[in-house]
Amino acid sequence: MEENFNYEEAMAKLNAAKALTPEQLAKKLEEAQRQAQETLARMTPEERKRAEEEAQKMIREDEQKRKALLESAQQVLGTRTPRFCPYCGTPNSGSNFCPNCGGALK
Ligand SMILES: [Zn+2]
Repeated sequence: MEENFNYEEAMAKLNAAKALTPEQLAKKLEEAQRQAQETLARMTPEERKRAEEEAQKMIREDEQKRKALLESAQQVLGTRTPRFCPYCGTPNSGSNFCPNCGGALK
């Protein structure tokens, strides 16, 4: 369970990525690819194999981070009170208890 999920930081990162034009993004990708190719060209086959394994590991870790972020976001959304009381169906205005039957809505 991720306790220190920073929603604002996640949104800021998302907005920063969105602020890039497709041209800027393509340029960044191109540059990263060129650097990777240059690095690979200098490597021995053994080093290359190790680098590939390292890259695979990074991709896996990145996936785990993304999954954790998604789960945190779902947790944030999940802690919101339901729109209707699950006991009597009375619409809820956002409080933690039903205004009609007093049932806990959290
Ligand atoms: Zn109720």
